[in-house]
Amino acid sequence: MDEDMKTKPNDYWKSKLTPEQYRVVREKGTETAFAGKYVDNHQDGTYRCVACGQELFASDTKFESGSGWPSFTDPVNKQHVALHEDSSHGMKRVEVTCNNCGAHLGHVFDDGPIDKGGQRFCINSVALDFTPKQ
Ligand code: FE
Repeated sequence: MDEDMKTKPNDYWKSKLTPEQYRVVREKGTETAFAGKYVDNHQDGTYRCVACGQELFASDTKFESGSGWPSFTDPVNKQHVALHEDSSHGMKRVEVTCNNCGAHLGHVFDDGPIDKGGQRFCINSVALDFTPKQ
């Protein structure tokens, strides 16, 4: 865990991120369903935090949820994400953030594939940076 990354001022993130990335990862926004660039990505590889580069998800846990957002059964490492109760927008949800820099990634739900643990990490494409497997 890098406490330094979590205390960067807004100006740092504004200079590092695009306006859409900033809106989602720093202001807890949500990209439009089915509009994200990784919804239909089926390549083998790794998804990193767009803000800090931490490895977050791997292609072998990605599945077709039909939700319109990239969906994963598990993070690459439980320590790489943090979970927070979120009661915004009149819903009780569990927010997922990058545990290295605090970036908002999306939410986790318990309606994922039963045979793979039952979790669905519903993640904004814009919060991710995909590196294809070499
Ligand atoms: Fe991060």
